Amino acid sequence: PQIPSYCGRFAPSPTGPLHFGSLAAALGSCLEARARGGLWRVRMEDVDLPRCRPGADRQILSTLEAFGFAWDGEVIYQTARHEAYRAVLERLKAGGRVFPCACTRRELADSALAPDGAHLYPGTCRNGLPPGRKARAWRLAVPEVEVDFLDAIQGPQHQNLAREAGDFVLLRADGLFAYQLAVVVDDAEQGITHVLRGADLLDSTPRQIHLQHLLGYPTPAYAHLPVAVNELGEKLSKQTQAAPVDPTQPVPALVAALNFLGQKPPTELARADLREVWQWALAHWDLTRVPRQRSLPAPDSAIQV
Ligand code: GLU
Repeated sequence: PQIPSYCGRFAPSPTGPLHFGSLAAALGSCLEARARGGLWRVRMEDVDLPRCRPGADRQILSTLEAFGFAWDGEVIYQTARHEAYRAVLERLKAGGRVFPCACTRRELADSALAPDGAHLYPGTCRNGLPPGRKARAWRLAVPEVEVDFLDAIQGPQHQNLAREAGDFVLLRADGLFAYQLAVVVDDAEQGITHVLRGADLLDSTPRQIHLQHLLGYPTPAYAHLPVAVNELGEKLSKQTQAAPVDPTQPVPALVAALNFLGQKPPTELARADLREVWQWALAHWDLTRVPRQRSLPAPDSAIQV
């Protein structure tokens, strides 16, 4: 098959309705893809099933449609892809890259913290399960490796994977595959060449690049958009009073998202119709204007009072 020169994607987790932060990620990834004549796909990242809410997928898709988004191809669901993830885990097992782990959350509670606040795996099961213990999860054995990449918005990035991420989980104790594995397999199989997403995932990118290297996958180009935060600096989410975007009022939210992404839309655009907003956005989109920050305050309208 012909490999397109640009294929982007928006990969929401269906944990609730679309809010301003996810709208900005959808808009940025879509505009960059379309401005470069590329494809733009939507993928439902429902791999972490306990966090998903029934019906949120349909709600997100119908909101995207109401906002004038159009995606290429079918929407894929991670819950339908366990076999693909399983096959990749088997490859990693065969290559001796992963190990079974018996440690419980409580047993790991005292281990050192990574810069992102997660516990670094202390290596307990790396060379074999302790006698009498059963495997709960599967982890990747992370070597001493430095991962460098150039983020198109945030600039040069560097991570010592062992020190900053450690042996991370690929198959969780509850039997679900981890996001890090699913996203790498899906991006590769869907032919994603460019990933534009929120900067909350900047620290995950070196883990994903390392997995791509192990699996012989190409590494997409990455660009991390600022994350929309509330007054306390918390990422907008259900837990932090993010207001769902209103599917009946797409124009003000799209204009606010263009502002948030540094595109400086003219004030008259707030009175334009949806079609005109998209026309302006496609004609004027400029990735280099996106603020080079990991987080930015969301507009007041994006937060529920
Ligand atoms: N599903 C993730 C989220 O909603 C995004 C993952 C990604 O874009 O790689 O936060």
